[in-house]
Amino acid sequence: MTCERIGVCEFFQTLTEEYQVVKQGWIVRYCLSKKDSERCARKIFLKAHGRRPPANMTPGGDFLET
Ligand code: SF4
Repeated sequence: MTCERIGVCEFFQTLTEEYQVVKQGWIVRYCLSKKDSERCARKIFLKAHGRRPPANMTPGGDFLET
């Protein structure tokens, strides 16, 4: 089962063209399995703070230039 947020995750909706190449890498590493998605910094942020993380926060916890 994939991450339950895969259809609504703002991270993938706001990625600029230059990041499209690495997008698949993030998806494979974090989003395709429920277990892997538990390591996603975006998901951890949401649980910890009760609100969505900034759109430019990567699943690894870095912030992309926008
Ligand atoms: S980036 Fe994180 S929260 Fe978003 S779909 Fe992937 S695993 Fe889920």
